[in-house]
Amino acid sequence: MSIAVELLEILVCPKCKGELLHREDPEQLVCGECRLAYPVKDGIPIMLIDQALEMDTPGNISDMKDC
Ligand SMILES: [Zn+2]
Repeated sequence: MSIAVELLEILVCPKCKGELLHREDPEQLVCGECRLAYPVKDGIPIMLIDQALEMDTPGNISDMKDC
């Protein structure tokens, strides 16, 4: 189950209000600005800063596709 496109379009980073990148396997919504990855559970994005995973390697951003 993946996130509805309509939902992706309206979602922004709760921290910086910036655009998010949709990443698959594992499904996450990533803010390149904050380097935070928000988990997606059963197609529902968990848009909470304290649930987000910090990304330590900036290089990861290159293998993401823009949503
Ligand atoms: Zn952000």
